[in-house]
Amino acid sequence: MLALKTPSPELQPHPLADPLIAGSRRALAQAITLAESTLPAHETQAQALLAQVLPHAGQSIRVGLSGVPGVGKSTFIEALGVWLADAGHKVAVLAVDPSSVRTGGSIMGDKTRMPLLTVHPGAFIRPSPSGGNLGGVTRRTREAITLCEAAGYDIILVETVGVGQSETQVAAMTDLFLLLTLPNAGDELQGIKRGIMELADLCVVNKADTDPHAANRAQAELNSALHLLTPRGAVWQPKAVQASALTGAGVHGVWEAVQEYRSVMQGELAAKRRTQLLGWFGDLLREAVWRSFLAGQDVGRLQATREAVLAGELTPVQGVSSLLHG
Ligand code: GDP
Repeated sequence: MLALKTPSPELQPHPLADPLIAGSRRALAQAITLAESTLPAHETQAQALLAQVLPHAGQSIRVGLSGVPGVGKSTFIEALGVWLADAGHKVAVLAVDPSSVRTGGSIMGDKTRMPLLTVHPGAFIRPSPSGGNLGGVTRRTREAITLCEAAGYDIILVETVGVGQSETQVAAMTDLFLLLTLPNAGDELQGIKRGIMELADLCVVNKADTDPHAANRAQAELNSALHLLTPRGAVWQPKAVQASALTGAGVHGVWEAVQEYRSVMQGELAAKRRTQLLGWFGDLLREAVWRSFLAGQDVGRLQATREAVLAGELTPVQGVSSLLHG
């Protein structure tokens, strides 16, 4: 067996670990702030804290939510979240929004977006980490999931705004990916790209109250589209349901579908999470190796190699080989 070097210095328990595990919201908020910090000293502390609380994490259901702006994400999360929290669940809402300009972890936006959930004692809402690239936002959100789980939150909702890559990232950190759509607009009109549909385990036709006939039609169309997209032999057949986040109709039904997914996928979820974890580890490793490679590179040499490849003097493979070994 390979002897692994254990990351050293923080053998001391982090002071936030115990209160966080005991469920203190204050400790949870502070721990997430620590994990969001880019100061190297904070990063070391945050990683030590994460390692300490890790044995207490992993017990939740992680649900990703997406849909174009205006589809009703906040209204839906508010309705679902309040219902679940009233039923005794501890609900954490996190967001992935790399375009976020909210500063200093302000929750102004979410206070107005989800007024009841924000003040519910059973809920914890945290906006997207501000600034940084998608990789940074993704990492902080993954870490926030771990911290929320360790603090006893058994339902984690990760919301993403409909901007390209963030959906893929959220699908890669959640057990189930839920896509909200509208009743009376075609896929193209809704800006749903095929790639996003492929990520969906569950589609919710929201605002069904505005046009029940259109909602039925959209549900049927989505069901056939999802059927075509699902590989044969898949354990779970993604499906479409309908709801009205505004009136609350159908919101419980959405949660029943989530529960059904959970029970059908019971034997698969642990493997799914392992694959996600290793995928993320691979991403981090590639990024770190790339950064350290660039740091050790002579910029002029890199540029000259690029030009040689463009001029056809070297094949791309020869170019890489000459940089690595030449
Ligand atoms: P988000 O941008 O996806 O977070 O969308 P919001 O939750 O902010 O909703 C956008 C608008 O649609 C708001 O005015 C909501 O009140 C409204 N809305 C959301 N869900 C429903 C619904 O089920 N029915 C109707 N009629 N309006 C809704």
